[in-house]
Amino acid sequence: MGDASRMDRALDLAVDQLHDAPLMVCSAMGGVTDQIISSCQQAQEGNWEEAQSILESIKERHFSCAQDFLKGDLLAATELDLNGVFAQFASLIKGVSLLKDCSPRSFDALLSFGERLSTRLIHARARQRGLDSELLDARELIKTDENFNAARPDMKEIKKAVQQKAHPESGRLLITQGFIGSTGDGVTTTLGRGGSDYSASILGAALEAKEIQIWTDVNGIMTTDPRLIPEATTIPEVTYDEAGELAYFGAKVVHPATIQPAVALGIPVLVKDTGAPEKDGTRIAQEAGEPGIKALSVKKGITVLSIASSRMLDAHGFLRKIFAIFDAAETSVDLVTTSEVSVSLTIERTEALPGIVEHLEALGDVTIETDMAIICMVGRQLWKDPSFPAKAFGAMGDIPVRMISLGASEVNLSLVVPASRADDALKGLHTRFFPS
Ligand code: ASP
Ligand code: MG
Repeated sequence: MGDASRMDRALDLAVDQLHDAPLMVCSAMGGVTDQIISSCQQAQEGNWEEAQSILESIKERHFSCAQDFLKGDLLAATELDLNGVFAQFASLIKGVSLLKDCSPRSFDALLSFGERLSTRLIHARARQRGLDSELLDARELIKTDENFNAARPDMKEIKKAVQQKAHPESGRLLITQGFIGSTGDGVTTTLGRGGSDYSASILGAALEAKEIQIWTDVNGIMTTDPRLIPEATTIPEVTYDEAGELAYFGAKVVHPATIQPAVALGIPVLVKDTGAPEKDGTRIAQEAGEPGIKALSVKKGITVLSIASSRMLDAHGFLRKIFAIFDAAETSVDLVTTSEVSVSLTIERTEALPGIVEHLEALGDVTIETDMAIICMVGRQLWKDPSFPAKAFGAMGDIPVRMISLGASEVNLSLVVPASRADDALKGLHTRFFPS
């Protein structure tokens, strides 16, 4: 929600669905959370004037939005209300700059202003438009632990609070803040960046909603990254597992943890484009669509490590030794393939590589290949279609495939290729599996 017209558009979307008794979960105005973070950083360094000037620009944006779409008494009341909130905001920032200290707890208190401000505006506008709207304070609904900046929801307490305080009704619009919550003692917490989707999913689960909708700026989940392949199209339906696999490999439209509360109750999640509401978007559900390939993604900057040793033959405990080395180096391994006498695996983070290699050399001959890429094909029961492997490898043409891994989750097949050929591989596969 960037400005008054975008907020109005968000309201239009809710109005279209008023008969379904919606609860609307709003994030901060676009960019405001980042501005709050910069303001905190300035304050923490004691640069009160810089911090204050960022705060002024946030204030200016909210007031100009109010003036754009509110009139008369409602405008006056909202300005008064905003002034009160900004006064609190300013005194907290002042405190941080005096102490040159911003604890995670203070940081959450400050971060919460983005959503607290945006929802006041949208609620006032809803009333200006004559809607029967009610603004709920998410901190009274989303009860969390004390893990500030990435607080975890307490579903039992949330359910209780929601039953007491949130009463969706056909024809009425309930509005609340995404991203923020509070501890049992009422201290403000946040759920982590991008947490509004998570809030929506938590509240949807607590209300046992019929559907959770995530409105974003892209039309759902695409067959691949449209910046790489312009022919990419929206996938109409994916299962929760497929969506999880896609998020891990690059399609960061919805984070799997975000929809976990919906998954637990089997509530479908619809991902839609605010800019094109008439389009269907993507439906993520327990049962969704046909088996077969759904999407492709690519992850570059991959390093392949191979360890070969005849000592592996008939030996046990070899893999454990290898993984212990990665564990000690806190480096996560993405793909693994093994043969009788060798193991190949991929890593993304290479800070600890020299130490890892040194230890691996005690186990066998080590080769390192840098600048590789993982191409990931996501879809259920890929191997059930006997023509799938031939099609996939046929589409690779002369591109050398360094590793192949059929994910344990049975929803992905990954290929490792040189990063320099990754775009060609993606294009070949996309043309083959999603002919336009
Ligand atoms: N405003 C928060 C953020 O920018 C939460 C969200 O937008 O989902 O991370
Ligand atoms: Mg967001």
